[in-house]
Amino acid sequence: MLAAGLSREGTLEVKDVEVPRLRGGDLLVDMRACGLCGSDLEKLSGEYTAAPPVIGHEAVGVVAEVGDGVEGFAEGDRVFPHHHVPCNDCHYCRGGSPTMCPEYRAHHLDPGGFAESFRVSSWIVRGGGVLLLPDNLAFDQASFIEPLACCLRAMDRVSWQETETALVVGGGPMGALLLRLLPGRGLDQPLLSEPSAVRREIAGRGGAVQSLDPTSLDVPDEVRSLTDGRGADVVFTASGHPAALEDALSSVRPGGTVALVGIPEGASQIPEAARLVTREVSLVASNAATDTETARAMALLDEGTVEVADLITHRVPLRDLAEAVPLAARAETMKVVVVSP
Ligand SMILES: [Zn+2]
Ligand SMILES: [Zn+2]
Repeated sequence: MLAAGLSREGTLEVKDVEVPRLRGGDLLVDMRACGLCGSDLEKLSGEYTAAPPVIGHEAVGVVAEVGDGVEGFAEGDRVFPHHHVPCNDCHYCRGGSPTMCPEYRAHHLDPGGFAESFRVSSWIVRGGGVLLLPDNLAFDQASFIEPLACCLRAMDRVSWQETETALVVGGGPMGALLLRLLPGRGLDQPLLSEPSAVRREIAGRGGAVQSLDPTSLDVPDEVRSLTDGRGADVVFTASGHPAALEDALSSVRPGGTVALVGIPEGASQIPEAARLVTREVSLVASNAATDTETARAMALLDEGTVEVADLITHRVPLRDLAEAVPLAARAETMKVVVVSP
């Protein structure tokens, strides 16, 4: 079967590998769609080191083989398998940090989501990481379950007291999903800062989003002029670019919250830490998601509360994945979904 992996030099290659062998309790899933995530690109450029370099984690597909002792799944089931599952029992899990559980990142899809078939380990199956997809939810849309779940977790980590204005910095797929979740928090007119005109247009659809172009105006000044001089109550960084973090920190109001969602690029710094204290700005980091959020994300997609079909600008067959990487980095690209067969 075909599967993507990283070469020793760190470049992406799609090659012929053995179909993974199941152990008791595992599932084998034939991939139908797998989104290409910004964190996959970060892993390829060598800047994201928080996890082993397994790429492809926004995968959905069809159960092809059921390991011994598995209950609740049968061949032919359409599923979303989460790539990481916590233990739900350790200090981190009990303390509200399940994505920091030592077990969480120890388990992943084998060999990764960008493969014709992949093994879902018994840990993930037993831990509730596999969801049955609703019949009417198309595979390419279901591939948004994981990124949407990450956005839901970021939303939940913010305190929403007295929130009238939210700014999303970065209008790529994550920024677009955050914007589409904000009406659910009573924010019908969020602000977006994004340099690409195409991304501003796509991300801003389906809501009264006020889009700002950071290449032609000073975003913090503009945000203040739109908020009686205060700044945004809540700012999400949905970009790893150092300028996104700087604009976020300068656009938040005194006492407001900056939620870090995109993986900051290597050179990113938090400048003027004293200003955070004197302005009482809260920084909240959010990383990944668990089955609580994936189930909610699947329901939002199934109900049509969050529309994602228009975010898919490219569908790329698995064998052409290497070509999709430069494509995904282009300003006029929104979401690249890799499909198989
Ligand atoms: Zn992702
Ligand atoms: Zn745990």
